[in-house]
Amino acid sequence: MNCHSPEAAVGSPSEFFDPEYRLARPGSTLRLIMRKPVIAGNWKMYKLLSEAVNTALALKPLVANANHCEVIIAPVFTELKTVADRLEGSNIKIAAQDCAAESAHGAHTGEVAADMLKDVGCRYVVVGHSERRQLYGETDQSVNRKVNSALAAGLTPIVCVGEMLEQREAGVVESVVKTQLSGGLAGLTRADVERIIIAYEPVWAIGTGKTATPQQAQEMHGVIRRAAAESHGEEVANSLRILYGGSVKPDNIATLMDQPDVDGALVGGASLEAETFAKIVNYK
Ligand code: PEP
Repeated sequence: MNCHSPEAAVGSPSEFFDPEYRLARPGSTLRLIMRKPVIAGNWKMYKLLSEAVNTALALKPLVANANHCEVIIAPVFTELKTVADRLEGSNIKIAAQDCAAESAHGAHTGEVAADMLKDVGCRYVVVGHSERRQLYGETDQSVNRKVNSALAAGLTPIVCVGEMLEQREAGVVESVVKTQLSGGLAGLTRADVERIIIAYEPVWAIGTGKTATPQQAQEMHGVIRRAAAESHGEEVANSLRILYGGSVKPDNIATLMDQPDVDGALVGGASLEAETFAKIVNYK
């Protein structure tokens, strides 16, 4: 069952009491909409090819029974094809860490088009990660173009948003994240938004060992879901999967996942080692 498709939301209730899926807003909707959790590992610029393959192959049996969530890893560009081939037939899906804003092939030295990523076995692409925003000049406008390119290529974009520490301290978290959302998702139709995943990643929590509390994560996931409801309707918002990212570890994943609007995690450092990432995937 594809929980993003509207069809997933109709039918007899018994069809949906599958423990793999989370009930969206229990009791508050006329239709039942389920969101399958996603646990995604962002390998950033780590691992040579042999290391990436070894980690992927070590992970495979450790998460083979993880039917409760989608399992994704995002190796660097040069390793995508090999890792995808070696994981073929497994339940681990492949994401790229970025894609070109341009869809059309052409003179864009150093860029990789979304359909090229699809072609080598990617199903997802991370877009607008804070490291790209901070270090490589990514803007909400370029994020928006990349989201459109990814959707056009048939990839699922994992769109990252999140505030810096100063913004949290200045009390402007909501407006910062809402601006990132409205810019990054500008012009998308309801059907487009049904196909994307959002990752809320407070920048102060990425790679720092400081995790947002489950309450802080829930509060911002609620803000994001309400913003999606305002822009694209309640039904789309209820089916939107919102991941938390920022120092997720085996010992904090379960309490984060207990939050009603936390639908999974985007994991950096703790995804680099198969056993540790598997513990996060197998949080329940
Ligand atoms: C990330 O890279 O998106 C991330 C959340 O990193 P970490 O888990 O290391 O904080």
